[in-house]
Amino acid sequence: MNLLYKSTRSKEGTVTASEAILKGLADDGGLFVPEYIPKLDVTMDELKEMSYQETAYAVMKQFLTDFTEEELKHCINSAYDSKFDTEVIAPLVKVGDVYHLELFHGATIAFKDMALSILPHLLTTAAKKNNVTREIVILTATSGDTGKAALAGFADVPGTKIIVFYPKGGVSRVQELQMVTQKGDNTAVVAIHGNFDNAQSGVKALFEDKELEKELADAGYQFSSANSINIGRLVPQVVYYVYAYAKLLQNEEIAAGEEINVTVPTGNFGNILAAYYAKQMGVPIAKLICASNENKVLFDFFRTGVYDRNRDFILTSSPSMDILISSNLERLIYTIAGQDADRNAELMSQLRERGSYEITPEMKERLADFEGGFATEDETKEAIHTTYERTGYVMDTHTAVASSVCAKYRKDSGDQKKCLIASTASPYKFIHSVMTAIDEKYASVDEFELIDELSRISGTEIPGAIQEIRNAQIRHNRECDADKMKETVKEILSV
Ligand SMILES: *Cc1c(COP(=O)(O)O)cnc(C)c1O
Repeated sequence: MNLLYKSTRSKEGTVTASEAILKGLADDGGLFVPEYIPKLDVTMDELKEMSYQETAYAVMKQFLTDFTEEELKHCINSAYDSKFDTEVIAPLVKVGDVYHLELFHGATIAFKDMALSILPHLLTTAAKKNNVTREIVILTATSGDTGKAALAGFADVPGTKIIVFYPKGGVSRVQELQMVTQKGDNTAVVAIHGNFDNAQSGVKALFEDKELEKELADAGYQFSSANSINIGRLVPQVVYYVYAYAKLLQNEEIAAGEEINVTVPTGNFGNILAAYYAKQMGVPIAKLICASNENKVLFDFFRTGVYDRNRDFILTSSPSMDILISSNLERLIYTIAGQDADRNAELMSQLRERGSYEITPEMKERLADFEGGFATEDETKEAIHTTYERTGYVMDTHTAVASSVCAKYRKDSGDQKKCLIASTASPYKFIHSVMTAIDEKYASVDEFELIDELSRISGTEIPGAIQEIRNAQIRHNRECDADKMKETVKEILSV
């Protein structure tokens, strides 16, 4: 049976999975959601024996029902190949009394590779299926990691162009270098004078601009999104929670049917939503622990039922989570509103107009699977430091937020279920913060010198992605004001 998708903001109309991937965002500004979450049709005993690629097929075929087996397997095998530095794609590592699922072994050493290495293949396959002849222009706002992962995924993919906006000064030195050195004739990178929310709101406005859409169509272009609002970004992420659970079982760390908790360092709410979908597919997950940094909008939301973005935007050492509007939360709001698109649209318009909204007590009850937590900058540092001291394992700042929140949750609640932590970036990517957390003496040392030192103290190999940028040439130096994004896009496309 075909699983169809609809917008979170209107009752009318459904699209196929491939149409939803192509469009990115619905015409009414809503996000595409499947009409229901499909169940796994294989057993855990079968999943236990599967490779990452096989697991990906078992999960994704349930969501992307208008892709043929051949098409989907081709997408999966083109994505999860030697671009990853380990055959298992997402290694599961026991650190102290928790399990880290390392999602940073792809081209850009952060977890967004998990979805962005497959999205270009899903998108070009979807274009073929729907007889799209226009060139696809990927427009993306990034808080650091998405940008590079999308650039790496789309570089030189025929029939596509990609334009990435990032907040000037709001990403790490390594992240910036990774983006501005990107090769590929179809790539463009723009630093905007503003923060990530400005970049993201700007991109959303471009997608909703009918006049621009028409101008682009006349010039042979059509926009699509690689941001985590695209359902083609979300579905591949469900895979790794299924995979992690099956591996815990295979390694006899848990018994059949045993429930685990999952802690996810959260920004745009994509990764943790994927975990929620995995739970609904049938993976025995108890709590979904949503870990925020000092931009703790989500923590406050889970506690009070009020989502309020009216607050100072704090630059932290986990910049990919410095977000005040978590776009993917809309999919959860829609779900807990009983799939009531009108109710959801009303709340989203309050968010746009007042910067806040409050859910009903009934909706709040449906959030029982979630637990909010946050870590301060000091607690994040402390988590990196003590974990290294006790185990020799070095984690990045984002993962450290999750690690700290997970430990606090266990202590405060007494809930001793085994805990899986989504480990979202390599420590090499946020090396300065990581190394100074381990020892203050590194504070004045240059980032590039710290690379060898991290390799030495952690006994890990320097990732290829880091080796590459050491000598790479800068290829992008465009900047623009946050209110000039439209003009900039037109300039890049010569429209
Ligand atoms: C994007 C990102 C996150 C946040 O993930 P969301 O899906 O946006 O919640 C966490 N850690 C790192 C390293 C990231 O790049």
